Order: sequence, then C-alpha cells, then structure tokens
Amino acid sequence: MRLPYLDNSNPLYYQKWLPWRDVPREQWDDWKWQLQHSVTSIEALEEILPLEPEAKNRIVHTFKKYKFAVAPYYISLMDPDNPQCPFRLQSIPQESELEVSGEEFSDPLNEDDDMAVPNVVHRYPDRVLVTINSSCSMYCRFCTRRRFVLDKGGHKDRNELEVICDYLESHPEIRDVIISGGDALMMGEKRLLEILGRIRAIPHVEIMRLASKIPCVLPMRITDALVQTLKIFKPLYFMTHFNHPYEITPEAKLACERIVDNGIPMMNQTVLLRGINSEVVIMKKLMQELLTIRVKPYYIYQCDLSEGISHFRTPVEKGIEIIESLRGHTSGLAVPEFVIDTPGGGGKVPIGPQYLLSQSDKKVVLRNYEGIISSYPQPKETDCTCSTAEAIREKGDRRVEHGPARLLHDEALSMKPHEMS
Ligand SMILES: *Cc1c(COP(=O)(O)O)cnc(C)c1O
Ligand code: SF4
Repeated sequence: MRLPYLDNSNPLYYQKWLPWRDVPREQWDDWKWQLQHSVTSIEALEEILPLEPEAKNRIVHTFKKYKFAVAPYYISLMDPDNPQCPFRLQSIPQESELEVSGEEFSDPLNEDDDMAVPNVVHRYPDRVLVTINSSCSMYCRFCTRRRFVLDKGGHKDRNELEVICDYLESHPEIRDVIISGGDALMMGEKRLLEILGRIRAIPHVEIMRLASKIPCVLPMRITDALVQTLKIFKPLYFMTHFNHPYEITPEAKLACERIVDNGIPMMNQTVLLRGINSEVVIMKKLMQELLTIRVKPYYIYQCDLSEGISHFRTPVEKGIEIIESLRGHTSGLAVPEFVIDTPGGGGKVPIGPQYLLSQSDKKVVLRNYEGIISSYPQPKETDCTCSTAEAIREKGDRRVEHGPARLLHDEALSMKPHEMS
C-alpha cells in the first residue's frame, strides 16, 4: 500500500533492487524474512551496491572491526547513485570510523561506571536505563554504544534479569525504567513478556519506556502479536529513533499507527548528524511528518564523542539554529529539546536559543521568534504555597534532590563540589 502524501516526499521509495525484485509482498512484509535476508558482509553488500575496488579497500578494515547489518527493507530506500544518501550514510561502514581522536572515548557517557549492577545505568535520581540486549537489526554507524553494540570484540555481560530486578526492587526511588539496548525489540515476545512482566510487578515502578529503532529500520517487526504483548504493560512509552523524513515510509507509518492505536504513546529521539539531517529544512520536515504519524518529537541529541564517529559531528550552533527555526515557526508539538549528553556521565543538558533577555523582580524582558521584544510584569505576591502540597509530600514524594535544586529548597546556602552528588 502506498500513501499518496508520502510519494512526493521520497522519490526514491521502492527502488527496484535486483536481488529482491520478485519477492512476493507477503515475504517482504515478514520481519523474519527480512532478518534472514539482511546484508551483513562486504561481499553481500557489493552484490547490491557495486563498490569501486579502491572504495572497498578503504572500508574493508571497518567491516573487520565493527558489525554491519541492514535489512532489505532499509536497503530498498537507498539511492544507488548517491553515496551521500541518508540511508547509506547511516548504515554503511566508512573508513573514518577507524580514526580515533584524543577527544573521543569508547564510553563517552561513562555508562559503564554508572552501572549500579551489570546492565543498569542509574544516573538520575528516579529513573534507570537497562541495556537488556546488545543486538540490533541495523547497526547505525553513529551509535553511541558502539563499544558493545557494534564492536565485534566488545564485551557484554550476560543479561542477568534476576540481578537487574533485584536492584530495581531494592531501590524504591526508581519510578521509571527505560528498557534499551541494542534494540529491545530484537528479543522475541516470550522474552519481552518475561522482562516487562518482572519489571511491571515491582510496585514502585510507575512507568516503563521501551527504546527501539525498529519502527524505522524494520517496521514489519511491529506485528499485531507484538503490540498485543506490549499493550498489557501500560503505562508503557515507546521511544523510537527516526533521523530523516524519508524514513517515514508507508510501512513505518503503519508500524507507528499500530503502536499508537493500541494506546502506547510514541516519542522520537533524533541524533543530529552532519550531512544527514544537519539542515533546518530536513529537521523541520522530519518533526512535522513525525506528528502526522502521531509520534511526538522528544529529543534531538548532539552527536556523542564515541570513538570513530567524529565525521558525523556538527557544531553545537547548528542544533541551536534548528531549534530557533522551529520554535514559533511551526507547531510547538514539533519542537523537541536539543540536548548534549555530556561527556563523563554528566547526563543530558538542554541547549537552546535564549529568549529571556533580562529579568528583575518587577519585570522580565523577552524576545519572541520574530525578534519582537516584550516585557512581562511580575506579580506583587510571590508566595507560591499550595494548600495540597503538604498532603502530597506526606504521602511520600520519594524525591531526593541533588545539585542546585537542593540549594533552592534546602536551608543550605552553598554547595561544594564534593556535595554535588
Ligand atoms: C537519557 C537517559 C535517561 C532518561 O532521561 P530523560 O531525560 O528522563 O528522558 C535515563 N538514564 C540515562 C542513563 C539516560 O542516558
Ligand atoms: S539501533 Fe540504537 S543501539 Fe542499535 S546501533 Fe542504532 S543507535 Fe545503536
């Protein structure tokens, strides 16, 4: 099925790729068939996308070090005549992946150090990231977790669900669990049922999030059976990963609709990638099209400092420019937060244009997206006490505040570096 509004936006769709020209639609739409026929070696890639001998020599070493896999579906979206096409740049290894600069790290976000127990990254007070699985249907060249997802020599602890759940159970402050990887949906329904069921049974876990790029790279994996499984565990949020408007194909749209129609809200996280989505028009189109398939743009990430991906990095100003060009100019729903996940495990820091020009206790001075400067008078009454707050506090807000938030609410006058955590 083709959807008319998408036909214009992606002229490349349904390239007649030779190896799969005669594949019946039922097979094409079967995710197991797609995985079985994924291209995973340079030799197989060459049969589909002829490589100059010189180009092959340049990338062969990258293939030796890092994993490579792309399903026929994603290949069918590639432009055979444009080596810089967004699908190719995201999935096909490049020589520069082996170049490691002094500014790069194998684990830029210090996730390994922040692991409370193997596979549980507990960085923020009330939520954790669980890296439950290290395989993906497609290996994104810019992956921040290259060290264990892409690197063939990368070490990954066995996924001890018991250990993970023991940790979650013994930490009542954890109210939000993000199940990530790799790609969480590379696991079968049975394993997902087990994992989600165990975590859902922990009383203090209020919400779960499932992180998966599958709706973008292998949308046929979003079967009815899968969604019926996920649906059991509401409130569950689906965090997905589209980077380019051309990725929003009829298949991707069907996959997302199936998820959302079953009451699972979807959010998108995009990585800002040089030469792929590093222009305002592309990001704007992506964010607007995501809304048409009911996926809410959540974050745009500045590219991390993982080893070998500096060719994907953009100046930070580019991300600010993108937000400046979205906010006010298009639906507020289409405006994600631009964040830098700070090296060393400092977590996500939101970065954006400055709208607050000046402030006093009488007025704040603001500028809007058109550059119009206005002032907003402050109220005379500043006490913000609410009659219901005490009751809610008593019922047990498990919040433990860190950092400047503590200075605002505690008696403390100052904070020394060693008191930060
Ligand atoms: C991104 C991230 C989270 C979730 O952050 P939110 O801002 O709540 O989406 C949690 N833990 C880790 C380690 C993360 O990297
Ligand atoms: S899907 Fe996610 S975890 Fe897997 S390679 Fe891509 S960015 Fe990395």
